[in-house]
Amino acid sequence: MEYQSLYRRYRPGRFDAVRGQQHVVRALRNAVRENRVAHLYLLSGPRGTGKTTLARILAKVLNCENPVDGEPCGLCASCKSVEKGTSFDLHELDAASNNRVDDMRDLLSKVALGTPGRTKVYLLDEVHMLSSGAENALLKTLEEPPDHVIFVLATTEPHKVVPTIRSRAQHLELTLLPADEMAEHVRWVIEDASLDVGADIVSHVVRVGGGSVRDTLSALDQVVAAGGISHHDTSSSELLEALAERDAGRAVAAIAEALRIGRDPRVIGEAFLGVLRNVLLVSLGATSTQLTEAEHEQADVFAPRLSAATLTRALEVVGTALVDMRQAPDPRVDLEVALVRLTKPAADTTLASLAERITHLERQLAEGDRATAAPTAVRAAATTALPATAVPTAAPPATAGPATELTAPAADTPPRPGPSRGARDSPPGRPGRPSPASEARSQLERTNRPPARSEAPPASPASIPPPARPGSTPSSTAVPTAVPTAVPTAVPTAVPTAVRPLELEAIRGDWDAVLEAMPRKVRVRFSGVGVREVIDGTVVVAFPNEVHRSRCEEFRLDVEVALATRFGTRAPVRFVTDETATSRADGGERAGSAPYDAPPEAEADDVIDLAELTDAPRGGGIIEQLTSAFPGAELVDGD
Ligand SMILES: [Zn+2]
Repeated sequence: MEYQSLYRRYRPGRFDAVRGQQHVVRALRNAVRENRVAHLYLLSGPRGTGKTTLARILAKVLNCENPVDGEPCGLCASCKSVEKGTSFDLHELDAASNNRVDDMRDLLSKVALGTPGRTKVYLLDEVHMLSSGAENALLKTLEEPPDHVIFVLATTEPHKVVPTIRSRAQHLELTLLPADEMAEHVRWVIEDASLDVGADIVSHVVRVGGGSVRDTLSALDQVVAAGGISHHDTSSSELLEALAERDAGRAVAAIAEALRIGRDPRVIGEAFLGVLRNVLLVSLGATSTQLTEAEHEQADVFAPRLSAATLTRALEVVGTALVDMRQAPDPRVDLEVALVRLTKPAADTTLASLAERITHLERQLAEGDRATAAPTAVRAAATTALPATAVPTAAPPATAGPATELTAPAADTPPRPGPSRGARDSPPGRPGRPSPASEARSQLERTNRPPARSEAPPASPASIPPPARPGSTPSSTAVPTAVPTAVPTAVPTAVPTAVRPLELEAIRGDWDAVLEAMPRKVRVRFSGVGVREVIDGTVVVAFPNEVHRSRCEEFRLDVEVALATRFGTRAPVRFVTDETATSRADGGERAGSAPYDAPPEAEADDVIDLAELTDAPRGGGIIEQLTSAFPGAELVDGD
């Protein structure tokens, strides 16, 4: 006898055999019982939750010779033909592969024809995949459906179904099954099918299935075929451990071990993504009914060890890797690179990575180094070491004095040799042959990265002249002369090891370099904005007006990160409105921030100067000019 998968074998043939989805089952069954079945149903929900199963039961009961209380008898010829898939009353179409208008016309041309049973049921699966022509053809029929015809549209993405169709349909939403309900179902299937498997595999298949009955029973099928889960995959736990310990070697070893026992890199990545999400949910105090007991335990262990910043970045990096892996010739590489980037943040220079490293440093400082760190001493040392106008980056990274007490975290943040290419080459034992996809991605990263790090020398004021403004005196107390030309090469590519408090003069002197370190989109919004003061370590940034300030508020973190990158010290940043900034005629006493001093509002319109357009860095000059002329404006469409 041909082997039948557990999913097919235990596919419900009656409404009351359906697990979960009670609201949907009740709606359909009552409609049948009370003879008020709608002409159009839209069933939506994740894959494997029973959309087509319910549509088939509906077709069955509507054509059954002896329906009982809204349920099909399952014995008559009609019921049997629906079960076998040979019924002429049920027409199934996979819209994903038959999405052209001709397919739809072909189908609809037969709608008006009679049918052997009482009701002709059309089941269109993945209906969101229809072309718009096919949708229109369908819509025409839906406007005046013949009495004996019912359409059941199934989709995983209801928001992609055109509203004109959605609004005509009775929309029923199916959900994933909670873990405990699924476990009960699995136990029942194991018993009913007399499967010879241990009790410990229930939680395993429930976890793999993720709330989808089809996926869960497929997992059970696999376990049965393999004779149990002797190769219990512990890679996810190992990877979490490696992430918590920042141990790249352990991460790569865990991947190697999982590959050795036959796991697909994508499966490893997806499983890791799943546990990361669990830990994040638990650390945020959000409980999920999808979690099994074992998953809860695991998440409880790691939640205190991994910060939210680490978790969200890990989710992003692994998620991106999974997308890239679809096209990668060797998906292992993408997975390994992702894990190395996560466990060795120094190999990664994205803003998210920097922010995460800062959080990590803060944690370490808060946890262990309180005793050794003498903030006041550091402050004093830094103050004396820095002349008021000095650019802090000119100071050697490893300064003497109390600051060296804090160099522990620097062990895993060596100066990087170059752009992220280094990260690609770092997985041990792998020849450097980046896939096309990863090539494209690193290209993308390079372009996304703040220019200060992607091109070696951060544009010094000398290379990019400050916008010439009518009425201003170019040769006044301008900063450019105060900035040593050696700065570009002296800028460390990693976070400097020395930690010192931020000083007002230092920030002002370096303000334009700080701005340069931010993404261009953010940077342009800060034209005309200067640092007013530093109060108790908080950097106060002044905006010429309230509108400008509120529009920039969302970029406060970017400023903090840019300051931290520049000075190696994380300081809170506060945005304030300084009305006097607009009425000031010239730079006045705030000479330090001269290049970005607020131009009087009236003058902002006169700023456009043809010479600037040619001088603007790396193309896109016009757009940048526009955005800086209208602070807070956003580029809606690049074309
Ligand atoms: Zn029947």
